[in-house]
Amino acid sequence: MTERLIKGGTVYTPAGARQADVLINDGVITKVEPMLHSSGEIVDARGKYVLPGAVDVHVHSRDPGFPEKEDFGTLTAAAAAGGVTVVLDMPNTIPAVDSAGVLEAKAALARSRALVDFGLWGLIRSSSTPEQLEGLAAAGAVGFKAYLAYAFSLSRKQIMSSFDADDPDIEAPADYGTLARLAPAVAHLGLPLAIHAEDPAILSAFRRPLLTYDDLLESRPPEAEAVAISAAAAVAREAGTHLYVAHLSSALGLGAAEDAIHNGTSLSLETCPQYLLLTNRDFDRVGAAMKVLPPVRTEADRQALVDGLRRGVISIVSTDHAPHTDAEKSRELEDAPAGSPGVQTLYLSCLQIAKDLGDVWQAPVWVSSAPAAFAGLENSKGAIAPGFDADIVIVNPDVRTQVAPERMRSRQRRGALEGREFDFSIEKVYLRGEPAGETARGRMLRPALIPLGPRAAT
Ligand SMILES: [Zn+2]
Repeated sequence: MTERLIKGGTVYTPAGARQADVLINDGVITKVEPMLHSSGEIVDARGKYVLPGAVDVHVHSRDPGFPEKEDFGTLTAAAAAGGVTVVLDMPNTIPAVDSAGVLEAKAALARSRALVDFGLWGLIRSSSTPEQLEGLAAAGAVGFKAYLAYAFSLSRKQIMSSFDADDPDIEAPADYGTLARLAPAVAHLGLPLAIHAEDPAILSAFRRPLLTYDDLLESRPPEAEAVAISAAAAVAREAGTHLYVAHLSSALGLGAAEDAIHNGTSLSLETCPQYLLLTNRDFDRVGAAMKVLPPVRTEADRQALVDGLRRGVISIVSTDHAPHTDAEKSRELEDAPAGSPGVQTLYLSCLQIAKDLGDVWQAPVWVSSAPAAFAGLENSKGAIAPGFDADIVIVNPDVRTQVAPERMRSRQRRGALEGREFDFSIEKVYLRGEPAGETARGRMLRPALIPLGPRAAT
């Protein structure tokens, strides 16, 4: 039996932060109490925070399909370094995860490389059937993602952001009709329906060359986000499906989501550190490294999102970790692909945002307990309490960290937050009781399914 005792830290427990020791036996937390003793390894955490490992529900491993950008090894090395002990990977890898067989093959690949635990999202295509979704759920999908503005290449088996709708190789994007047709099946499976919330008709009406950052903002107006949220929410509400809005970026989108919640929609909102820490004014300094979709918007949008988080309307901060190569990201704005790495800086970003709001202990709620509950992992992940997996992050609140490319473990080293300083450092990270990041012992996680009915709102 392996025993380890984390001693003398300030522990964030489900009952709040308190001075306690944490006893771990065989990877599981067995006691959280003051003044514990152990004959096993003692970890001195005096003056440190002892936090539950983060659950990042929105990452893009790029694996399989884009080895030059990232793979499960580099993704989870970055995650482990940043205190993220669970990642849920989006389905836009190649082949896209649209059926049980593809999900099972991807799971086997991920198991061979993952340094932290992981789960896999399934993809909804415009041609998807309820039977395919059932198969994905049976294979362990954590939920289903629909990309409203992205078509599907039949020969390449991948989703495409730019496409020729008349090309016989192109299957039309999933649309509100697809959502309405499949939402009852998703509700029946008890899994969430996640959307990339930008309305394709509004995007096409505002399409333009991207010569400046203002062009990017004008090409992806917040109305596109608000309309997509309202429409998908109406569909989800009618079907009793739990809706998940990924990467919320605007005050207008937040307002649409709040209206939907008030009207009885079961809906979880995610935003990301880039929308909470950056604005359009940062573009001159950061450049295309901060090109993400939907875009980072104005100071008013940033403040509305921070306030939504403070009020608890936005419950989850995940990353939309989406690396490319540094060479791709050093192109001009128009040609640089959208996305930034983020998983390694999630916890530090949120600790800083929470501290600046006056309650540092909100950070583990946003990145750990709320996303664990959303993902159906609330019995094993997201808390420091007896019976939970010993996924633990020790944070030093007295040592600052500057985001520097040489410390980044992702294949893309230069991200949107490069140069930023945080008042904290990640000192140690444990995955199921052992130091994380050393061996590929990540396990695939399946949600605790509630058959017949929607998951409760989180
Ligand atoms: Zn994404």
